Amino acid sequence: MDSRVRNRKARLIQATDRVYCANAYSVSNALYVITKKSVVVIDTTESISAARASLADFRKITELPVSWIVYTHFHGDHIRGAKAFHGPGVKIIAQRRMPEDLARNNMLLPYRERVNAIQLGTPLPAGNGTSVLNDPEDGYMPPDTLFDEEFRFEEGGTQFELYHTQGESTDHLMVWMPRKNPVSRRPFLSLFSDAEQPVESRPPRGEMDRVARANAGAAARMPHPFARCAGARGGGDR
Ligand SMILES: [Zn+2]
Repeated sequence: MDSRVRNRKARLIQATDRVYCANAYSVSNALYVITKKSVVVIDTTESISAARASLADFRKITELPVSWIVYTHFHGDHIRGAKAFHGPGVKIIAQRRMPEDLARNNMLLPYRERVNAIQLGTPLPAGNGTSVLNDPEDGYMPPDTLFDEEFRFEEGGTQFELYHTQGESTDHLMVWMPRKNPVSRRPFLSLFSDAEQPVESRPPRGEMDRVARANAGAAARMPHPFARCAGARGGGDR
C-alpha cells in the first residue's frame, strides 16, 4: 500500500446525487457518475486490486453497467485499474497525446522510479500489492477513442464535455457535466480534473475559468463538487 493512503480509510464519498468519489483505495481517486442507464468511470486508480475494491463497494449503490472509462491523463495511478471496469462495449477515452505520452514515460521509467524513490518515498516495502510500483498486475487498457481539444457525448441522459486542458501532463483533460437544475433551472456544473496539481506553465484554473465563462458564468455561483474529494490527494503522482 502506498504510504500516502496507507493510514486513510478507503471509502466512497458522495459528491452529488449521482457522483461518487472512490477515495483512498489508491493514491488517486476514481470517480463514478451514475446516469439513467449506466456508469461512467473517470480514472481507474493505480491497480486492478484497488479498482476492484472500490467497485465492490460501489456495487452496493448500483448494479448499472459501466459504459465509458475516461482517463484524465496518462499517469499510472489513473490508468492501471481499467481492466476491473472494462467489459464488452465499454469505451475508453483519452486526449490524443495520451498513448504517446505514456510510451515516453515508460521508456523513462527506470529514471522516474529513482526520482520517485527520492522525492516521494517509493517504492515502499514490496509484497502488499497496491502501490503503482509493487503491483505486478497492470490493468491498463489502451483508449479506443481519442480527441484533440473537445469531445462531447451523452450517456443515459447525462451530457459529458471533455476538454483538453493544462494540468500535470500535456495530455490532461477535464470533464464537465452541464445540466439544468430541475429546481432552480440554473445550469449545474461539475468539474473533474487534476487541477489541484498544476505542474505545467499555465495554471489549469485559467482553463476552468474559460469553460466557466462559456457556461454563462455560472461556475462562480456553484459549489465545486470535486473540492469534497480534494483531500484525497496526497501529493505528486506519476
Ligand atoms: Zn498524475
